[in-house]
Amino acid sequence: MDGQIKENDISHVVEADKAHVWHHLTQHKPFETGDPRIIVEGKGMKVWDQNGKEYLDAVSGGVWTVNVGYGRETIADAVRDQLVKMNYFAASAGSIPGALFSEKLIEKMPGMSRVYITNSGSEANEKAFKMIRQIAHKRYGGKKTKILYRDRDYHGSTLATMSAGGQDERNAQYGPFAPDFIRVPHCMEYRKHELGLEHLSGAEFGRAAADAIEDVILREGPETVGALCLEPITAGGGVIEAPEGYWPRVQEICEKYDILLHIDEVVCGLGRTGTWFGYQHYGIKPDFVTMAKGVASGYAAIACCVSNERVFDMFKEDASDPLGYFRDISTFGGCTAGPVAALENLRIIEDEGLLENTTKMGERMLANLNALAEKHAVIGDVRGKGLFLGAELVKDRETKEPVTEAEVGAVVADCGAQGVIIGATNRSLPGRNNTLCFSPALIATEQDIDRICEAVDNALTKVFG
Ligand code: PMP
Repeated sequence: MDGQIKENDISHVVEADKAHVWHHLTQHKPFETGDPRIIVEGKGMKVWDQNGKEYLDAVSGGVWTVNVGYGRETIADAVRDQLVKMNYFAASAGSIPGALFSEKLIEKMPGMSRVYITNSGSEANEKAFKMIRQIAHKRYGGKKTKILYRDRDYHGSTLATMSAGGQDERNAQYGPFAPDFIRVPHCMEYRKHELGLEHLSGAEFGRAAADAIEDVILREGPETVGALCLEPITAGGGVIEAPEGYWPRVQEICEKYDILLHIDEVVCGLGRTGTWFGYQHYGIKPDFVTMAKGVASGYAAIACCVSNERVFDMFKEDASDPLGYFRDISTFGGCTAGPVAALENLRIIEDEGLLENTTKMGERMLANLNALAEKHAVIGDVRGKGLFLGAELVKDRETKEPVTEAEVGAVVADCGAQGVIIGATNRSLPGRNNTLCFSPALIATEQDIDRICEAVDNALTKVFG
């Protein structure tokens, strides 16, 4: 590790953290007797903690974010140069990086045309929700305000995005939620028995899961439903790819009932699954695509709500109406650090062939995890695409009863002790966080992939025998 922090300095940092920092998604009681982990440095796929311990990061900064890896000097240089030239100007004024980044991004998204820049995935989704609501008022006399979302999907931490949240574990104790967000069933083949559909084949289930969306639309009244918001591959809900037959039917349903399709690419976007965006695997034609994490790989806080020209046109057609345009602002949407970092991030993904690497390394990791499933009966299912993979742990392959969160925690902790940081997800219901989650940076090598899987192998042997 370069630039070691002196021992007394770091103990001060730890004490300051323990005294004043409220960590995200963390129960703080254990810090009364132990220390939080503080990551002090990163390079490529590796990070170092306050004690100088080195880790191979298999989760891109914890939550699928640092797609191009740590320590990218060209991003830092581009941000620095831009900040001393022009750091910020908001509202109707544009910026050079804003224009150039938007142009480059849209190149990767045929059929889409407009980029609304904001700060976080939650906020990008809220922008889409507001546009959908405004369209309902402008075009449909205040009907079509309902937004459908799916069981197990997650769209953010704000109250409106939680109102579209399909993970009951996350939502518990934070209600009441906003009206006119309506849940549709999930499309998780591994747990189709929970919907009473275990007798269906994969493709039959895919179609049935999409048909279930139509049932909800008919129940609610198609004239009241404005949009359907889905993750292309569900992330925090358990790394879930829809079965064959699902997406064409979803597209057909949206067209049939004049429903806008909003795809949440906050996790899958920017190469994570081997294509620029997850929806591009399935031939989907979205009206909105939201993205965040990998947009600038965590080098700056930037997220985007991208729409097609059909949507954009609706906001300029009645120029004489003072309420006719999108009356929304995001103060920090005017920061230039975001788009300049994002532009360089796009260049890196392209020039270094990271989409191809993701596909190749993803296949290797999938094969490794499937081999582990042959050895460890506790792995009930291995799934995902590209470098976005999960392994669901169950007590019994027949009943699919999840292992305990404590057991999953022990696997994650043992990997950590071996110097590999992995994650766990599937926050659908309390007590069901039973899916090991892997999302290394898109620069991962064969050695990195093998080392991650070796650590998991050792940890599973230790925890489950
Ligand atoms: N959508 C999805 C699919 C996510 O996984 C997340 C964050 N994990 C969000 C939206 C919210 O993004 P943020 O935390 O940047 O608000």
